[in-house]
Amino acid sequence: MPCQGSGHSSCSKPMCQSCAMPMCEVAHFGTNKDGSKSDTYCCYCYTKGAFTDPSRTVDQMIDMVATKMAEMKKMPKERAYSIVKNMIPNLKRWKK
Ligand SMILES: [Zn+2]
Repeated sequence: MPCQGSGHSSCSKPMCQSCAMPMCEVAHFGTNKDGSKSDTYCCYCYTKGAFTDPSRTVDQMIDMVATKMAEMKKMPKERAYSIVKNMIPNLKRWKK
C-alpha cells in the first residue's frame, strides 16, 4: 500500500524523539512511569518514565545512530553522519 499524501515513507509511524528510530510496533514504544506506552520515545531510550541513559549527549547520540544507520543501510559512515546530524538535534529530547 502506498502512503497517502505527503510522500513521507514513515507517515503514520511515530518516531522516537530521542534516537529517531521509527516505532512500527507497539513493542518499540517506551514506557511511562505508570506503565503506559509512550509514543514519544522508544523502548531503548525510555523506560518507566526515565531515559535509559540520561547522561548521553547529543553528540554521542548522533555518533551512535550514524554508526547503526551506516551498518543497516550499508552506506559510508560519513554519509550516515551527515544525515543524522541534521536529524537528531531537531528531536524533542535535544531541542532547546
Ligand atoms: Zn529511541
